[in-house]
Amino acid sequence: MATVESKKTWSLPEDTGDNPAGNDFCEDTRFMPWKKGLFSYTKVSYPVRYGWFHELVTRRFTCQFNLNGEPRFFRSNGDDWPHPTEWLERTLGNDWLYIATLGYTDTVSLTGEYYYPFLPYPSNNIFSGSPFGLPAIREGIMMAENVHSIAAYLLRQGLLEGDDNVAIMNRIASWTPERLRKRSQDLKAILKAIVPVLPPDTRHVAYDVIPVMVMEGCLFNCGFCQVKSGADFRVRSRHEIEEQLYRLRDFLGEDLTNYCSLFLGQHDGLAAGVSTLALTVDAARRILDMKRSPFPGINVFMFASARSFLSCGPGDFDRLNGLGCQVYINIGLESFDQHTLDYLRKPVDAGEVKDALSRMIGVNRGYSNIEVSGNVLIGSSLPATHMDTLEETVCNLLPAYYPRGALYLSPMQGETRRRWVIEGLRRIKNLRRIDSFLYLIRRL
Ligand code: SF4
Repeated sequence: MATVESKKTWSLPEDTGDNPAGNDFCEDTRFMPWKKGLFSYTKVSYPVRYGWFHELVTRRFTCQFNLNGEPRFFRSNGDDWPHPTEWLERTLGNDWLYIATLGYTDTVSLTGEYYYPFLPYPSNNIFSGSPFGLPAIREGIMMAENVHSIAAYLLRQGLLEGDDNVAIMNRIASWTPERLRKRSQDLKAILKAIVPVLPPDTRHVAYDVIPVMVMEGCLFNCGFCQVKSGADFRVRSRHEIEEQLYRLRDFLGEDLTNYCSLFLGQHDGLAAGVSTLALTVDAARRILDMKRSPFPGINVFMFASARSFLSCGPGDFDRLNGLGCQVYINIGLESFDQHTLDYLRKPVDAGEVKDALSRMIGVNRGYSNIEVSGNVLIGSSLPATHMDTLEETVCNLLPAYYPRGALYLSPMQGETRRRWVIEGLRRIKNLRRIDSFLYLIRRL
């Protein structure tokens, strides 16, 4: 891999008629392959990139590509673009998200991050409005999907010097919208599953995770849940997991080096059992050659239920703590109020959920390589006892502020009273016992 950033600026010739972007598009075009982003994750109030990437800048747009040449980040350079620090981001699942700043302060206090991803599909959105109706954004997505034709034009004009640059531009030129769409289908075929939601803690690695399905379904199939697969609970075999990892290695290709994090899915990874999790992490290290990654360590994310979490004993946590990774477990607690759990048709006992919060605090205190967070629902349609019990439980179980772990409040889908939700979050924040944020349900 080249380790030195190279830069080349061209003044393109007059439009010959086959320039897909028009004259003004191709003046002052610069191609910068092998740009080096950061190799450790950070939270800052300006856009940063992680890992290696390629960049193409024209008068009209800036596009950044992953090492396979797929468009990854895109911004129009026109005056009609909403804000110069805001970008479109393409995910592994081939969604184009709009990454907005929204004035920073509110975003940080509500979500713990400096940027807020607007999603192009229905979710439990925290902020009202959608940038996807803006002509500049619609045009931006169209341009981003058609950068391949600009790459093909540059190649046809013979404007690139060096075999490496030509090879990279050929890759970029190969990613037609049809091929990008097929890629998301290929990923589903490899996983034999979809990933309708990522754990909220994956925000700590900018959601850059390799999904590995270690189990299917979940323990409860709760009535309220809109992300459940509905599949029967099943732990995947070692053979299935290893086969998946070999196929993921080929799928991610050269861009594999830009990943240092695994999401062990699907809905209750911890319920797969610590032995399965340990063998998956070992196999991932070996098959995905994760040591090759320039990032300093490996992160492992998973969901858990109150029951799978409580069924782990000290030996299990010792083993997870000793995996040589930072392990993030996110527990779906939903509510500490029995009336609300019944309303949600979640077949667990409120006492069990409180025990899980208590254990969560204990594990965060006792294991430096494990960080546990919990999800609780928030919604104006839930029984009034829900918020009161939440406040009471947090106060009872956490006598003082503790800096590890977090409580995520997940707005019910369809919730329209956003101000009510924000006030609810403030109630929990003001207790000053644990970091609390809103949780946006974001798919892979
Ligand atoms: S909330 Fe969790 S346990 Fe309940 S159905 Fe959804 S994924 Fe399954």
